[in-house]
Amino acid sequence: MSDGIVIAGGGLAAQRCTETLRSQGYDGPIRIVCAEAHAPYDRPPLSKELLAGEMPAAAVALRPRPWYDERQIDLLLGTRAERLDLAGRRLELSSGARLRFDSLLVATGSRARTLPLLDGYSNAGVLRTLDDALALRHALGPGRRVVIVGAGFIGLEAAATASRLGAWVTIIEALDAPLMGILGASLGSWFAELHRAEGADVLLGARITGVRGRRKVRALELADGVVVECDHVLVGVGVDPDTRWLDGTGLGANGVRVDARGCTCAPGIYAAGDAARPYDTALARHVRTEHWEAAARQGADAARAMLGLEPVRTPLPSFWSDQHGVRVQYVGRAEEADRIAIDGDPGGRDFEALFTKAGVPVAALLVGRPRALSRARRRVQEGLESLTPETRR
Ligand SMILES: Cc1cc2nc3c(=O)[nH]c(=O)nc-3n(C[C@H](O)[C@H](O)[C@H](O)COP(=O)(O)OP(=O)(O)OC[C@H]3O[C@@H](n4cnc5c(N)ncnc54)[C@H](O)[C@@H]3O)c2cc1C
Repeated sequence: MSDGIVIAGGGLAAQRCTETLRSQGYDGPIRIVCAEAHAPYDRPPLSKELLAGEMPAAAVALRPRPWYDERQIDLLLGTRAERLDLAGRRLELSSGARLRFDSLLVATGSRARTLPLLDGYSNAGVLRTLDDALALRHALGPGRRVVIVGAGFIGLEAAATASRLGAWVTIIEALDAPLMGILGASLGSWFAELHRAEGADVLLGARITGVRGRRKVRALELADGVVVECDHVLVGVGVDPDTRWLDGTGLGANGVRVDARGCTCAPGIYAAGDAARPYDTALARHVRTEHWEAAARQGADAARAMLGLEPVRTPLPSFWSDQHGVRVQYVGRAEEADRIAIDGDPGGRDFEALFTKAGVPVAALLVGRPRALSRARRRVQEGLESLTPETRR
């Protein structure tokens, strides 16, 4: 007997997939297999409101528990998908059970990278799960010395929250500016200044060479001889798609390659969210995104593909971030750009950066301008659609 639609992973993409399946009339079995012990929950608050202690843990649930029961969605929590038997269309679970599926969605998200130098220390961790966030919250407070290794969005948000809670924050970044890979050096420097103005120490171009302390990190030694003392270390050096369990199937390297609808090359197997690498029609290549809006949309689109329905029109990749009371929004593909134009007042935390390629808008970053998003989105959408194969290169 078939177990119907099986979803490996139980985050946002998984939840949105089930919601669309039921709302579009699918009434067969649905099973979510999730490694974590919690029903699908929202991650953005983990570095913001939840970390600040302004939101209880129960409030991050994407839907209340009865929502799944009412829709007859089976939640297999605390259970990992261990192996995919492509030919037999079976998923092997850590519990020893095997599920036979008609359709399988890979929605196992991403895992936070770690630094081998800091492995095994009780006061060093990452921020990916609800349990990580609760542990980190416990470590923050007035006068605590917190080191954030890596100035990506999650590290910067956690740094802002830790500062607000009265911690002494040091940010250690290997590159010459935060977010340099996405936004370039000059905009990245704006983020460094934002955090410095709020009291954090921001060490750029810095390399950790040693750790002092036995079970707990007491201090980090940097290549230039600086020693940073600390009570807690958060490692925020990016994520990788959590698809190692697919090794050997040919599906999972650097995210599961799918078309714009979420279909892999294997019939009946789909992928969505951080674990997927979908085809981007504007860029004419497969690109991973690690953002909320993409995961939500791709989960819903995969459900539509399973039911033979057309996908909803793909909007541009976009995300938001909140740091020191400033809303930062981003839309498009800045990595395509050859120029950046700034409009507004960076010093006043109120500006728009427009990224262009051959004069055509390909991305925008809005700082403190939440209402300008739809206009920026329109401009960038038109710009990306107008790129020709020559200008794309
Ligand atoms: C702290 C934090 C803050 C963020 N803030 C923002 C933000 O402000 N804006 C924004 O756009 N994005 C933000 N994001 C990113 C966004 O939350 C992710 O893009 C989104 O959660 C991806 O959803 P997903 O369903 O693909 O994966 P996930 O939400 O990661 O869910 C995947 C689930 O699958 C489970 N799993 C993994 N392997 C297995 C396995 N083998 N078997 C079974 N289960 C497995 C995982 O444990 C996890 O529960 C943030 C992320 C974090 C961590």
